[in-house]
Amino acid sequence: MKIICIGRNYTDHIEELANEKPTDPVIFMKPDTALLREKDFYIPGFSEDIHYEVELLVKINKVGKHINARFAQKYYDEIGLGIDFTARDVQAKLKEKGLPWEKAKAFDGSVIMGEWRPKDEFADINDIRFSLKKNGEVVQQGHTALMLWKVDELVAYVSRYFTLKKGDVIFTGTPAGVGKINPNDYLEGFLEDKKSFALGVK
Ligand code: ZN
Repeated sequence: MKIICIGRNYTDHIEELANEKPTDPVIFMKPDTALLREKDFYIPGFSEDIHYEVELLVKINKVGKHINARFAQKYYDEIGLGIDFTARDVQAKLKEKGLPWEKAKAFDGSVIMGEWRPKDEFADINDIRFSLKKNGEVVQQGHTALMLWKVDELVAYVSRYFTLKKGDVIFTGTPAGVGKINPNDYLEGFLEDKKSFALGVK
């Protein structure tokens, strides 16, 4: 299973990090060892600034390459919500030097995935709302209508470079509101009105 992540897919988040608006989707990957195995997230010793990024997920259901965006929906039938944990201080140093982001993005436990739900539960993939609460307060709110590249365009774009396989997961990018986590924080993700995950921070 591979985890393919999209960066800079919401204008408001691009602005909060003062990034340039990309002309193509920004893609990076995480290995399967990035999936958190414990029920809590443990802040790693190499970072002083771990950020949450809540994102809509799609799970690929069959092999696909050079997928046409018009048929992309045939390649996923489950939708989820997850967090792309990011060592922002490590990432800032790597960005400065133009180096790859893996140490900041793909470390052990840097991904959680909430409950998977059938795509059919949602009338329109481009009209799904999601949110993240930290300690009971909403810190991020997303709406798939506001993506620069919509889900089907992302599936198509990614498949031009990487063969998609059953079980692969695409993280579709985070909206504004990313921020630091601290020990004893409690994170809850909501896909529409339904809770998708809950997680403690140690
Ligand atoms: Zn992200």
